[in-house]
Amino acid sequence: MNGRIRVLIAEDEPTVRTALSELIRSESEFELVGAAADAAQAIELARVHHPDVALLDVKMPGGGGAQAAGGIRALCPQTRVTALSAYDDRTSVLEMLGAGAVGYLVKGTPAVQILDAVRSSARGLGALSAEVTGDVIRALAGQLKREEFEAEMRRYEALHVRRLIQGQGLALAVQPVFELATREPVGFEALARFHPHGLRTPTRWFERADSLGLLVDLELAVAREALGLLGLLPGNSFLSINLSPATATSAPFARHLDGVPAGRVVIEITEHAPVDDYGTLNAAIQGLRQSGVRLAIDDAGAGFASLQHIVRLSPDFIKLDISLTRGIDADPVRRALATALIAFASEVDAAIIAEGIETEREYETLRSLGAPYGQGFFLGPPGPPSFEIP
Ligand code: C2E
Ligand code: MG
Ligand code: MG
Repeated sequence: MNGRIRVLIAEDEPTVRTALSELIRSESEFELVGAAADAAQAIELARVHHPDVALLDVKMPGGGGAQAAGGIRALCPQTRVTALSAYDDRTSVLEMLGAGAVGYLVKGTPAVQILDAVRSSARGLGALSAEVTGDVIRALAGQLKREEFEAEMRRYEALHVRRLIQGQGLALAVQPVFELATREPVGFEALARFHPHGLRTPTRWFERADSLGLLVDLELAVAREALGLLGLLPGNSFLSINLSPATATSAPFARHLDGVPAGRVVIEITEHAPVDDYGTLNAAIQGLRQSGVRLAIDDAGAGFASLQHIVRLSPDFIKLDISLTRGIDADPVRRALATALIAFASEVDAAIIAEGIETEREYETLRSLGAPYGQGFFLGPPGPPSFEIP
C-alpha cells in the first residue's frame, strides 16, 4: 500500500470518538479521513473518502455497526471493516463478521493493539480480540458441522429418490372409494409407500423429489406401477392417481396410458400444485379427457388454490379435504361448507368424494347431506392392492 493508511472511525459516544481520533492521528502512518457519529454518516463518509480501514462501533444509532459495515462494503468493497465494541456477545460478533467485518476488537483493548489491528486490517488480515475468538471458532465449527450434515442428508436423499425412481423401495397402497348410499366400493386411490417407512412421509418424499428436480420422474415411476394394478381391481372400478400438473401433461404419462382402459383412470390434481397457466393445462389435459380419463381436484377446501382449480378445470370429481370432513357431525360451519360444495358440484356436473371419513357419525352426516362418495379409515384404510374388498 502506498502512502498512509486512510482510516474512518464511527462511534456515537463523543468521548470515545475523540479518543480514537486522537489515537489514529498520533501515528504518522495513519490518516484520519472522517469520524462519524452514526451508521448513515459512516456510510456517507466512506462513499466520499474510500478509506482503507473503517473502525466501526457495533451499537450506534441508525442500524448500528452491522448496517454501516454492509453499506460501506457495498459502496467501497476495498475498505476493510473492523468492529469495535463494548459488546463481546456472540450475536454482535457474528452479525458484524456476517456483514463483512474482517476484525472485531472488544473495547478496552490496549491502544497499541488497536493500532496493530488497523495495520492488519489494511493488509487484509483479520484481527480478533482474544475474548471473541473462542466464540467465533465455536460458531464456525457448529456451522460447518451443520452444513456437512445437511450436505450429507441431501446426498443421501438424492440417491434414495433416484433408487425410488428405479422402483427400489417403492410400493403402492390402495384405498377404496365408496358410494356412500350403498357403501359399495366404486374405485381406489393409489397411494405411494416408500421404504424405509419411518424415514419420511410420502408427502415429504415428493417434496424432496421436487426440490431435486425429480418430481415428474418419481410421479411417473409411481404412476406406472399404479396403472399396473388395474388388473387386480374389480372390473368396473376406477383407479385414482395423484399427479402434479407437470406429470399429468407430460408425454411419458400419455405413453404409460397406452393400452390402459382410460375410462377407469382418474387423475387427482392436488390443491398444493400451483398452476400458472390454466389455458395450457386445460389444452394439454384435453386429449387425455377425450380418451376417457377423468379429473379430480384433490384436497378441496384446504386452501384457495383448489377453488381456482375447480373453476378453471371443470373436474369430474371434487375431493373434499379431510379438514372439512373431520368432526363434520358436530360442527355446523363445516356442514354448511360441505352442503354448499355438494350443491355447487352438482351444478357443475362434478361429484363430491369426501376424504378422511374416520367415524360412523361423519359418514352418516356426509351421506345425509347428499355427498355421493367418500373414503377414509372408517370405510376402508389404505392397504395392499390385493386386499379383500370389504
Ligand atoms: P392425498 O392424495 O390427499 O391422500 C389422502 C391421504 O389421507 C393419504 O395419506 C391417506 O393415507 C390418508 N387418509 C386416508 N383416509 C384417512 C383417514 O380417514 N384419516 C386420515 N387422517 N388420513 C386418511 P398418505 O398416503 O400419507 O399421502 C399423503 C399425500 O401424499 C397424499 O394426499 C398425496 O398428496 C401424496 N401422495 C401419496 N401418494 C402419492 C402418489 O402416488 N403420487 C403423488 N403425486 N402424490 C402422492
Ligand atoms: Mg389424493
Ligand atoms: Mg386429499
